[in-house]
Amino acid sequence: MSEENKGTCNCPECEKRAREHRESEELNFAVLIALMPVLTLTLFNSVGLFH
Ligand SMILES: [Zn+2]
Repeated sequence: MSEENKGTCNCPECEKRAREHRESEELNFAVLIALMPVLTLTLFNSVGLFH
């Protein structure tokens, strides 16, 4: 039976794919965190809290 346990396979291909997936997720997360202040300011601005 296939168990599909992610991260348990140690072959180079799965390792590479997992690393790339993790890196892209980290990048997305970093971008999200970086954009958070801008988004917050934009939101507050549009609501009118800073006027
Ligand atoms: Zn594998």
